[in-house]
Amino acid sequence: MQHIDVSMSIRPLLKILLLLILSDQVYGQSQIINDITQLNPIRVQSVICPTTTKEIAEAVKGYRRPISIGGGRYSMGGQTATEQALQIDMRNFDAIKSFSPEKREITVQAGITWRKIQEHIDPHNLSVKIMQTYANFTVGGSLSVNVHGRYLGQGPLILSVKEIKLVVADGTLITASPAQHPELFYGAIGGYGALGVITEATLYLTENVKVERTDHVLPLSQYKEHFLSQLKPDSTIIFHNADIYPRRYKKLREISYRQTDKPLTIPHRLKSQHQRYRFNRVVFKVISGYPGGKWLRQHLIDPILYKGQPVEWRNYEASYDVFELEPRSRKRSTYVLQEYFVPVENFDAFYPVMVDILKKNRVNVINISIRHAKQDPGSLLAWARTDVFAFVIYYKQGTRPEAKEKVTVWTRQLVDAAIASEGAYYLPYQIHASEEQFRKAYPNAETFFELKKQVDPNYKFRNKLWDAYYR
Ligand SMILES: Cc1cc2nc3c(=O)[nH]c(=O)nc-3n(C[C@H](O)[C@H](O)[C@H](O)COP(=O)(O)OP(=O)(O)OC[C@H]3O[C@@H](n4cnc5c(N)ncnc54)[C@H](O)[C@@H]3O)c2cc1C
Repeated sequence: MQHIDVSMSIRPLLKILLLLILSDQVYGQSQIINDITQLNPIRVQSVICPTTTKEIAEAVKGYRRPISIGGGRYSMGGQTATEQALQIDMRNFDAIKSFSPEKREITVQAGITWRKIQEHIDPHNLSVKIMQTYANFTVGGSLSVNVHGRYLGQGPLILSVKEIKLVVADGTLITASPAQHPELFYGAIGGYGALGVITEATLYLTENVKVERTDHVLPLSQYKEHFLSQLKPDSTIIFHNADIYPRRYKKLREISYRQTDKPLTIPHRLKSQHQRYRFNRVVFKVISGYPGGKWLRQHLIDPILYKGQPVEWRNYEASYDVFELEPRSRKRSTYVLQEYFVPVENFDAFYPVMVDILKKNRVNVINISIRHAKQDPGSLLAWARTDVFAFVIYYKQGTRPEAKEKVTVWTRQLVDAAIASEGAYYLPYQIHASEEQFRKAYPNAETFFELKKQVDPNYKFRNKLWDAYYR
């Protein structure tokens, strides 16, 4: 009988097993990545959580297949992943590299959240200059989207960036600023991870001041004139937005926070991170799910919420926690955002069309927040090609395929309406817009794609956004 040397025959198998275990240790394990809506589960090949630039550079250089980049994962359409990619999860890459209170500048690793920056700079009475309403997002994710907030007289985040560092597809680390590699500066900011991994950013800071809230209900039809004559020239306003009330969309509440010397009525420096937000959960449920819920909000809940004129710190108002919006479950329905930008002069032409589309499609809108943003200084995928008004639509939708299809229909109508008003739609949300609509809303996309071809010739950096629009 032939003798079989078991040790010889299984040795190659053992080797393969060992290699698999090792590669899992290096590259993590196959995982489902999803975003806050829970609508976009994507199985990636593996996930790594680097803590040094060297690790990022080596991983990028040594990996020949697709790579996607994840920050806080609050984008809503698969912008942080694609099937079978290596995902670089940036959330542990969150150190503060340097901070100069005198120069009002901070250099951070890109996985840091605004909240962590706020905790570091607040004792020096400094504030982040531009950020979103909530503080949970990472700096890298915010830069890659080129976000904006409620800051009056400000605009896209790029306006507060001194320079960034970027690891490109061959593993090289490049510093980019308006003076150094400007094409990468204006490409990577707002570039949704297409050109490389943003590893560091130097941001300009500003003074943390006391602000007093005021509010005022007025017809939507009077808002533009009111904003241009009363609010825009008022240099004491730090935050401003206006909330349009659905279902009628006739009235809005403008809410402004002006710099003040009055004594604080809210002494806290930052919002507590341990709140449970039970009240918010009930309110959102009532507004989105009960007959008369929207009327109740406009005529009962908001008048109570906006009673008085609280005085608080700027950092307090800038440190909201996304958790306050989180429902008990996102299984059957989920809360989603969309955003449209139109040049200031086209406000009155756009909003009636938007309202008509939302009404005709019976969209369950919870809120529409209007903000103003200054023109972008030149990023290739700018959403503010001139001074714009932004319409942030927060709505509820079902999670079944039919519900998603319905959303595609009315979203495309809204995108067309924004394009007809020479505006754009926002890219971090669900990817419903057609390729043609994308090209019209982002006319410099071709230049951006040419740059991508140069720095990433093998289409290494990808995600669902670029799978949809990059050819
Ligand atoms: C409740 C809520 C409120 C919001 N409010 C606002 C608002 O007020 N204003 C506003 O402008 N937006 C707002 N947004 C959108 C939000 O700003 C974006 O989704 C932003 O990307 C979130 O940051 P993040 O860290 O979660 O990024 P992620 O979702 O993780 O990533 C976003 C994109 O950036 C890329 N990316 C992440 N990190 C890096 C990196 N280091 N290098 C290169 N690419 C990277 C990703 O690949 C992806 O394409 C809101 C979203 C939610 C859910």
